Amino acid sequence: MAELYADIVVPLAQPAFTYRVDETLRDTIAVGVCVKVQLGSSKLYAGIVWRLHNEAPAFKTVKSVSEYVSHSPRLSQTVMRFWEWVADYYMCSLGEVMRGAMPSALKPEGMTDGEFMRSGIAPKEVRLLRLHPEIADEFALGNAFESLRQAPKQYEALLDLVSKLPQDGMFSGEVPRHFVNADPAVIASLVKKRILTVSSRVLRPGELPPLPVVLPELTDVQQRAMSEIAANGSRPVLLHGVTGSGKTEIYIHLINEQLRADRNVMYLLPEIAMTSQLVARISKYFGERVVIYHSRISESKRAENYRRVAESVGGMLILGVRSAIFMPVDNLGLVIVDEEHDDSYKQNETAPRYNARDCAVVLGRLHGACVVLGSATPSVESYFNVTEGKYGMTVLTERYGGVSMPEVLISDTITAVKRGERSSHFNKALRDRITAALEAGEQVMLFQNRRGFSPYMECTECGYVPMCRDCNVSLTLHKSEGRLRCHYCGRSEPIPATCPSCGAHAVVARGFGTEKVEEELARLFPDAKVVRLDRDTAQSARAYNSVIESFENGTADILVGTQMITKGFDFAGVSVVGILNADNLLNYPDFRAGERAYQIIAQMAGRAGRREKRGQVVIQTSCPDNVVIRQAAAGDYGAMVRTQLAERADFFYPPYCRLLSVTLRFRDKSVLDAAGARFRELLAPVLGQRLLGPQPPVVDRIKRQFLLSFIIKTARGESFAAAKHVLAQASAALNAEQRFKYVDVIVNVDPV
Ligand code: ADP
Ligand code: ZN
Repeated sequence: MAELYADIVVPLAQPAFTYRVDETLRDTIAVGVCVKVQLGSSKLYAGIVWRLHNEAPAFKTVKSVSEYVSHSPRLSQTVMRFWEWVADYYMCSLGEVMRGAMPSALKPEGMTDGEFMRSGIAPKEVRLLRLHPEIADEFALGNAFESLRQAPKQYEALLDLVSKLPQDGMFSGEVPRHFVNADPAVIASLVKKRILTVSSRVLRPGELPPLPVVLPELTDVQQRAMSEIAANGSRPVLLHGVTGSGKTEIYIHLINEQLRADRNVMYLLPEIAMTSQLVARISKYFGERVVIYHSRISESKRAENYRRVAESVGGMLILGVRSAIFMPVDNLGLVIVDEEHDDSYKQNETAPRYNARDCAVVLGRLHGACVVLGSATPSVESYFNVTEGKYGMTVLTERYGGVSMPEVLISDTITAVKRGERSSHFNKALRDRITAALEAGEQVMLFQNRRGFSPYMECTECGYVPMCRDCNVSLTLHKSEGRLRCHYCGRSEPIPATCPSCGAHAVVARGFGTEKVEEELARLFPDAKVVRLDRDTAQSARAYNSVIESFENGTADILVGTQMITKGFDFAGVSVVGILNADNLLNYPDFRAGERAYQIIAQMAGRAGRREKRGQVVIQTSCPDNVVIRQAAAGDYGAMVRTQLAERADFFYPPYCRLLSVTLRFRDKSVLDAAGARFRELLAPVLGQRLLGPQPPVVDRIKRQFLLSFIIKTARGESFAAAKHVLAQASAALNAEQRFKYVDVIVNVDPV
């Protein structure tokens, strides 16, 4: 018989490796299973069998594979096709997809067998109790009870077990150990007396719990949206509904339909919208059928949930963040991407640098599933896809229950200052509204997109600004911590008492972040309870929940925060929302800045007045005539999208072109500059005008490494794949040169 070989993907930036399949696995091995492999001289990895074949590799010493990682589920064909698409489209290896896709407990690695096992999880086993076969009839069982007269605890335990056995008169069923109320010693005695046996096995997902009988009744408008979604079949649909129009309510109905048909559903949200509020709202309907996947659940729970999904034949709801797109789901009937415009769907930091929203469309196509992209402020790209006929669209223009959209006021900061109507960070218009809300016992939410006390410090004598030692960026003042902190690498240092450059006692805080707003509020509104939500206060799930809870139950009056507070919340008591400095949102060197500013303002405004009383929103800005601010204040999405599309057409940006960004990274600046020049030489002859760069990015040094970027723009109708191919060849060629061997070439497809 010909030797059997397996191409195995390991979680590294490497192609698949070929192994010989050991005799012992020959009959059972299959594509998609997880096996233990050795790489190099000793390191052990979990790997996925990607292909089985009889082609002996060219190299002599072929290692063999002889063991499964049995607690890691087998991937289905569809899941494998999806990984391949991600690797191909986002220009990374399958190993990198594996690294991002699987929870670490399911892909153990280690230098020794011991380490390999320890780093994995034990499979989620249940220990099961059953009656010893010798006493599994009524007569023998009676005798067993009789024999335990003198051992009341054992008697009780046996009674408890018997009462939980399936009542089929057979006494042969099994009961999970944790259902039986008894100490380990008691069970051990019963086992010794040959009354019980204990076994373990991996638990199959049991019977699916029943589905809700009553769902909230949809309004006519919502019902129409449902039918329009259905009418699109498997063409993706953009659900464009203003905040509070009942999008979530529609999702609940769509999910219910799929679960009833025993199909699985995937429901994605941005991390910050995965609030306990929303999870509770969904779980209320689908309870045990919900599998949650986000960063605040433990590593072992994640592994368990991944397996539950792999084992599910249908009828489960996966509720998760961007990485949940990799859940090994089959029989998928529906994918929902809520807040589809959110840029956190894009992973930029590590490969695979995927966009879960775009992946959802592909995943839906692979499964023939419906795809619904929902937002109050759809991305310009998705809107464009509607106009091109690629997506369908359904629109909800009104809030549920006749609640009006909030009243929005643009407050000019410069005028306020001139008139003496600005104190601290508040223009009179906002301050008056906060005062009135507090007096009426209502709540206030304030948005500032900088955390910390102030974004930078400056010496008023010489202009010196404290910078990070390792990154080319100014340090942020964190006052309560008493330190300056780098938001790129996390390094911190003490606040300088005098200027390190000129020695003057003149280093002052500039600008303001959420921490400063919180402090000022305490001064201006001494009777109000203020809470703050940003990456600093929400470090643990507990801290995060306690802030939300205090605002939800009305203990807190004012919530200050960064983007974290813009989404997913439905607080009944909020009547006033303030955007403290909208200029920050506009002055951003990115072609999407206008779109983002619109989205943030609209989302923030959407938190105001979600019940009977009309909410009020104040936007503080020094550019009150800015077109985006005007459009956001008017809630005129159509105007915004037209302006943005026109601009992008003029300057040739997506959706009129496709972008690839390339960053070269190296610790030595002169080598990096030379690499940049060489890279240009390699690419320019083929790409011509499509290549822009090299150019240093806004922050051109991070963690002691210098950065240099290129952008490649390809027109619609031109082959994006061809451009990627050229790029892949050029980066290989660059790294093949001795001098540039260690220059990192980081490719980001469709960067956000
Ligand atoms: P969105 O997701 O579009 O922001 P939600 O689904 O959260 O909107 O709806 C806003 C509010 O209106 C929620 O409190 C929700 O419970 C309520 N609501 C929306 N539609 C209905 C409905 N058909 N029946 C009962 N309540 C509804
Ligand atoms: Zn730094």
